[in-house]
Amino acid sequence: MSNISDNVKHLREEIATAAAHAGRDPEEIKLMAVTKTQPAAAVNQAIAAGVTLLGENRAQELCARYEEYDKHPGMEIHFIGHLQTNKVKMILGKISLVQSVSSLRLAEEISKQSAAAGISTDLLLEINIGGEESKGGVPPEETEQLARQIALLPAVRLCGLMAIPPIWEENGVGERYFAGMQEIQVDIRGKKIDNVSMDILSMGMSDDFAAAIKHGSTMVRVGTAIFGYRHRK
Ligand SMILES: *Cc1c(COP(=O)(O)O)cnc(C)c1O
Repeated sequence: MSNISDNVKHLREEIATAAAHAGRDPEEIKLMAVTKTQPAAAVNQAIAAGVTLLGENRAQELCARYEEYDKHPGMEIHFIGHLQTNKVKMILGKISLVQSVSSLRLAEEISKQSAAAGISTDLLLEINIGGEESKGGVPPEETEQLARQIALLPAVRLCGLMAIPPIWEENGVGERYFAGMQEIQVDIRGKKIDNVSMDILSMGMSDDFAAAIKHGSTMVRVGTAIFGYRHRK
């Protein structure tokens, strides 16, 4: 049995250690609890342990549990899963940022629905850093063009990048994907596009967050190391 509160405490220590190794301030790195398949009670234990950011993969699951969350001012929810355009409306108002944007069409829909609701929604571009055919995400070489197009939309703001790199077996091999993400971040930042910031670099999960922190991650998305193993649905 895993104790969620202990897990969160332990993770914070590991994040601090990884930050120290990288010569970084641990305050720069935000811990997200990825809630998929977890009951609201488990999520609330993470919130009680001080987690202030939740990551949601499925629109329906979010809506089903949303009312049960012990929400408090300052707590944020980000959407991190595949989002269909017809589900945008149901999650707006519940989430403050969508991390998994990889098409202009989705960004346009989020902007349109946000404008209708009188709000502005923050976005990250999901980058297909491993060039995997089976995965969604923006091909690295198309990042700048898409960033420039999204910059023109009225009710969204592009705030950075996220990635789910390929799984690797050998220690260290996957680090080049994190390094590649950091290169894209620096490159786009250097273009100084109006209405685009590159402040958030969302990368690193239970097994690889230390390597991600070494390469500039500002947000680690952790499920298993907080909640234990998921029951596959
Ligand atoms: C499930 C998931 C995570 C967390 O993965 P763990 O290995 O359980 O920490 C992070 N990001 C995304 C997008 C996910 O779907």
